[in-house]
Order: sequence, then structure tokens, then C-alpha cells
Amino acid sequence: MGAVEKSRKDVLPAGSWDYASSLEGRDIVSFEERYGLFIGGEQVSPRSRSWFTTVSPSTEEPLAEVAQAGAKDVALAVGAAQEAFAPWSSWRPAERAKVLFRIARILQERARELAVAESLDGGKPIKESRDVDLPLAAAHFFYYAGWADKLEYAFPGRRPRPIGVAAQIVPWNFPLLMLAWKIAPALACGNTVVLKPAETTPLTALLFADVCRQAEVPPGVVNIVTGDGSTGAHLVRSEGIGKVAFTGSTEVGKAIQRELAGRDISLTLELGGKAANIVFEDCALDQAVEGIVNGIYFNQGHVCCAGSRLLVQESIHDQLVRKLKRRMSTLRVGDPLDKNTDVGAINSKAQLDRITELVQAGTDEGAELYQPPCRLPEKGWWFAPTVFTNVAQSHRIAQEEIFGPVLSVLTFRTPDEAVEKANNTMYGLSAGIWTEKGSRILWMADRLRAGVVWGNTFNRFDPASPFGGYKESGFGREGGRHGLEAYLRFE
Ligand code: NDP
Repeated sequence: MGAVEKSRKDVLPAGSWDYASSLEGRDIVSFEERYGLFIGGEQVSPRSRSWFTTVSPSTEEPLAEVAQAGAKDVALAVGAAQEAFAPWSSWRPAERAKVLFRIARILQERARELAVAESLDGGKPIKESRDVDLPLAAAHFFYYAGWADKLEYAFPGRRPRPIGVAAQIVPWNFPLLMLAWKIAPALACGNTVVLKPAETTPLTALLFADVCRQAEVPPGVVNIVTGDGSTGAHLVRSEGIGKVAFTGSTEVGKAIQRELAGRDISLTLELGGKAANIVFEDCALDQAVEGIVNGIYFNQGHVCCAGSRLLVQESIHDQLVRKLKRRMSTLRVGDPLDKNTDVGAINSKAQLDRITELVQAGTDEGAELYQPPCRLPEKGWWFAPTVFTNVAQSHRIAQEEIFGPVLSVLTFRTPDEAVEKANNTMYGLSAGIWTEKGSRILWMADRLRAGVVWGNTFNRFDPASPFGGYKESGFGREGGRHGLEAYLRFE
């Protein structure tokens, strides 16, 4: 006790009640100066001869140089995946399962290293990459390893067969976790993959290439091509792919769908969202406040299913907003590697500009902005937790995906009105309901056009539970038995 007090006094200014920082060591991860592409089980230099630098969004410090894959590189990766498909898909399913189990175990063993890498490259708080991203990524491999030799039972009488080469494009908000969502079911079903991570967060995918080597994944079964949007576009245009799985913006999702029109390629799209978190007057209010905070400030709000619209019953509006503001003032914004940090860095300058522009629009359109006092670091990209009250349904901040730590508060009087407002969006990915009545949760869930509906909780994920959207949030499901279907054809 004495020692702790002494060390805090050493670090903190006199009279401060702040937490002393508790930094996760970064020595556990060492990045190479340069990463080539992972094709056919080896790191290869890009034919494009072009490279880019990936930086840490919390410090703007360069972390490594990464290959920018061009059309020839992508063709090479697809070729390697095609070549690996016949042998891999004819492996005994139980043997394929062993490879997936090995990947899962190695992810667990290297969890700290990968979590630090994720926080450095992406800006998310270490307590999230450590306690959410990594455990869930491993859990996905464990879960789908279990299905690999049971596909006939998952789809009785339908003779499931792998599709071939899966082209997979993932975003920057959950780089390794999205990789796991994509690669685990694809391999379990006997497919091979070419995966493109986002330009701003390629490093954990490149470390995953090393995990594949350790787990003795046969060469060509997993290929990783880094680059910007043009690399993704080459991948989608490639001959020789049988399936495209995309997570990202609705705009790019639509472009991919147009590109694939008329081609015999199956497609799943996991796109944006504008989820309603609906709070009834009979709920456990303090618990709801925690759920609201988790719903929108988790991962800086860079979450497709974020509870970015708070629909609160009019009778408790003032009380709830008061409690929410008080809770927001305790959020610690700062160094992603500090174990006390609640809100990390914004992933890129481009994303910060997008958030800033939409927040300005919110103010211009007449909503009332609140941000708790907090000191943002000088270097890097940051945005304070923000809540808007007096929001109208027509405001841009109530309609568009902000993908940042910004909450828009609207009110309702009756359950019917809550449903009407919650569904009044082009998206349909997720929703939350807070009430003490289970029957009301079921009544609401029946009427909400959202792929996932949480009751008295928010942002809970499980590999056994399917995830996906309606309307412009995309189609197809990832996770669970449904997630297998996207990687199979049936004879
Ligand atoms: P994008 O949709 O551009 O990025 C997602 C992935 O697609 C990245 O790997 C990206 O590569 C790649 N990509 C970009 N253009 C193409 C293309 N023409 N063909 C194939 N692949 C492509 O999202 P942004 O990063 O531009 O973010 C913009 C907005 O999208 C955010 O503000 C947010 O609202 C939303 N978004 C939603 C996500 C979700 O999970 N639903 C995730 C990310 C963003 P690269 O990174 O190299 O550009």
C-alpha cells in the first residue's frame, strides 16, 4: 500500500486525483523494417516495387514499411490460392480442424504481442485489444475448428462443398478480429483465401502470416496482400476467385456489388450501421448508462454496430442525460498502451476529418453539443467523447454513420414511436433495448429491422452467434452455423 502511494506521488502532480499511467510494455512486439506480401507461404517483394509506411495514430510515429500490392501481385496471390485449393480441400476434415485449433492456440499464446501490435497500429486501448479483440479472434478459430469435420451435420442432406478461393477485404476498426471472422470459417469449409487488410492497419495481418507458418498451414492456403483501396479493387476483379467477403463502408460495398454483377461469385457484405440504443423509463438506469457508454465510446466509436443513436423515453430524458454526462467525465482519453485508457486514438487523419465535419454539421443544424473537459495529447489524432442533445431525425448526425465517439440523443413517448424512429434509417445492423420487461424486449425485437438486437446489454459478441445486417447494412451472416453457409456450395 505504502509503495503504491509512493510511486503515484512520484508520477502525479501534487493534489491530482488522476490515475497514474500503467503502460503495457511494447518490447513484446518487434516489427520488421519492411514487410513483403505473404504469398504461397512466403514473404515476397511486390512486383509493383511500391511500398507505404504504416504509422501509429496515437503518435504519428512510423512503425514499418509495407508492400503496396498491384494487379500482378494480386494475380500471383490468387494463383497461389488456386493451386493450394485442390490439396487443401481434399484433406481429411479432422486434419483441417487440427490446423485451425493450432492457429487458435498460437493466437492465445501470442495474445499479448498481438494486442500490443493492434493498439500501436490502430490506436485502440490495450484493454480492448487484450480483453476483446484477441480472445474473440482465438474463439472464432476454436469455434470453426469444431465445425470442420461436422459440416454434413450442420446442413443435413445438402452435401456441402467448399467454393474455392475466397477474396476477403477487411477494415481498420477490428483488424485481427475481422481477419478471424473471415479466415476461420473459410478454412474450416476447405476454401483457400486471399485477404486484404486495411491500409492503415496491416501489421497484425502480417504477424498472422507468421502464426500461419507456426501452425503449419500449407503454403498458399492463406495469402495476405497489403495495399490501399486499389489493391482491394484488383482482388475483387480477379479471375479465379469464387467468393468475396467484404466488411467496410456501404459506398465501397455497393461498388463491389456492381463489379460482381453478372459473375458467378458469391458475395457477403458487412457494411455500416446507425444503431438505436433504446432506453425505456422502467430500465435499470445506471446499468443503461454503462451500456450507452460501452455502445458508443468502445473502440472510439469505430464500430459498425455502435449504438450511435440514443432513443430515450421522454420522461427520463433529463435524468439520463445528467447521469450520462457525469459518467462521460470519468472516461480517460489517451495513450492506447495505458491500461487505464478508455478511449484511444482516432484511426487516421482522414477519419478524424470525417468525424470533425459531421460534428460541425450537428452544431450547424442546431443540436446541442457536450464534451467533458479532457486534455487531448498534442501528437496523433484524437476526438473527445461527444454527446449531442436536441437532435432531430432529419439531422445528418441522426442519419449518417459518424464512426467516431459521437452520440446523438433523440426522445420517444411510446414503444410504437421508438420502433418507428429506430427503423427510420437506411441501415439495419443492430439495436439495443433497455427495460425491465422481458416481454417488451421480445415485442420490440420482433419489430426492429436490425440483424442483432441486444436486451439490457450492448456490443456483446460470440462466435456461435450470427452477425449481419438488413437494408444498406449488407447481407449474409458471419458467425455461427450461418457463417459456414457463406463459404459453401451445395450439391
Ligand atoms: P472502406 O470501405 O474504404 O474500407 C474498407 C476496406 O475496403 C479497406 O480494406 C479498404 O482499403 C478497402 N477498399 C477501399 N476501396 C475499395 C475498393 N474500391 N474495392 C475493394 N476494396 C476497397 O472504409 P474507409 O476506411 O474509407 O472508411 C470510410 C467510412 O466507412 C467510415 O467513416 C465508416 O463510416 C465506414 N466504415 C465502416 C466499417 C464497418 O465495419 N462497417 C469499417 C470501416 C469503415 P484501404 O483501407 O486500403 O482503403
